[in-house]
Amino acid sequence: MKDITRREFLKTLGVAGAAVAGLSSCLGKKEEKTTGTSVEGEIPTDKMTMRVCHSTGDKVSLLGYGMMRLPHRPVPDKEDEEEIDQEAVNELVDYAIAHGVNYFDTSPAYCRGFSERSTGIALKRHPREKYFVATKLSNFDPSTWSREGSMEIYRASFRELQVDYIDYMLLHAVGGGKDSMEELHNRYIDNGMLDFLLEERKAGRIRNLGFSYHGDIKIFDYLLAENDKYHWDFVQIQMNYLDWKHAKATNPFNTDAEYLYEELKKRNIPAIIMEPLLGGRLAKVPDFIVARLKQRDPERSVASWAFRFAGTYPNVLTVLSGMTLMEHLQDNLRSYCPLDPLSDDDIEFLQDVANDMAGLNTIPCNDCQYCMPCPYGIDIPAILTHYNKCVNEGNVPHEAQDDEYRRARRAFLVSYDRAIPKLRQASHCIGCGECMSHCPQRIKIPDELHRIDRMVEELKQNIS
Ligand code: SF4
Ligand code: SF4
Repeated sequence: MKDITRREFLKTLGVAGAAVAGLSSCLGKKEEKTTGTSVEGEIPTDKMTMRVCHSTGDKVSLLGYGMMRLPHRPVPDKEDEEEIDQEAVNELVDYAIAHGVNYFDTSPAYCRGFSERSTGIALKRHPREKYFVATKLSNFDPSTWSREGSMEIYRASFRELQVDYIDYMLLHAVGGGKDSMEELHNRYIDNGMLDFLLEERKAGRIRNLGFSYHGDIKIFDYLLAENDKYHWDFVQIQMNYLDWKHAKATNPFNTDAEYLYEELKKRNIPAIIMEPLLGGRLAKVPDFIVARLKQRDPERSVASWAFRFAGTYPNVLTVLSGMTLMEHLQDNLRSYCPLDPLSDDDIEFLQDVANDMAGLNTIPCNDCQYCMPCPYGIDIPAILTHYNKCVNEGNVPHEAQDDEYRRARRAFLVSYDRAIPKLRQASHCIGCGECMSHCPQRIKIPDELHRIDRMVEELKQNIS
């Protein structure tokens, strides 16, 4: 298969993500939604935990709505096309606002470029003072690094969002590229865009200015060292109970969230949290971890531990969650309406859980889908997340002599064929490397796919 249609891509996205509350895909099936009316009364509308942004005094809801995985529907009469289901987005946004959510985070890059428009349509139906909108200068493509190119992206955000000021503006994903310092200069400094954004903040068209940080610690340290010049109002970081002390276990390029958080706290810069569930991995933990969490508190969901962890730290302004379905929104509202903070004992317990998880040899894929579509039809996130699931469940066979080998081999092969259609499996990866530059986790995707494929072939041969 040389190529896949957009419809197939979006379908796959939906299947891959729908299982994870709070972090599902950009595609949601309308019939899977609940209207929310049956349980609306169970979630209080006036109990959302709020945090204050020091620079503007904004009272921000602890749950922030990430607008990167919006529900989609088929385009009428166009078999291969999908579009954002605006009615569903409106319903989700209305419900979120009714329950105290007031922070909405989008980007020109989300949902194939349509998230800002959809967010603008949904929010425009509410009084402007009811919400804070965050967006980003997502000038990833080198063709947009010129001042004109970046200005066009910036101006388009106002048009798409239908606003005349932006509450939270971010330099998007700094530190994630191969040569991060050079890229930071190209995208924001040498073209004068950062100076321009500082002027826009003075003029009130940007109310808070910050950056989202991925990867290279030199960039994080450099931008904080320059804080006297830039006066960052907030910084967005990846933080969860596994990354707190084991970031290298989730990705060799990452830095422990504890360091990032403490550096911000020292400077009184509020932290906005992304990846509270680590791409869903903290909602789909191995069975022995589920058992530990349930033993500690049988009533709480596995995911709620991760949301409570992120919310417990007082310098956290808001915790972002991409929510496709009403049940995701309702689950997350329950964690923060109001927050029941973790005790010191709970945090120690979660660190112990994290120590156990850090030893698992998983691939740091967070199912973000940025590498898709692969021009050769490979379902990269599905293969990598399936592999991780098998590692977590003890279904990756090791030595043929092991007692467990036959059972694990069968479990791996059967579930692999069920989870990923044959034409989209790792064996069809030609190693072109096109996907790699899109991966914020810097996974050597073709190497991992070839490794998994070799393993699959060996398992098949050992059947006889
Ligand atoms: S290297 Fe990446 S883009 Fe190329 S075929 Fe393999 S998975 Fe697809
Ligand atoms: S391989 Fe990388 S880009 Fe692709 S889904 Fe995983 S983390 Fe995201």
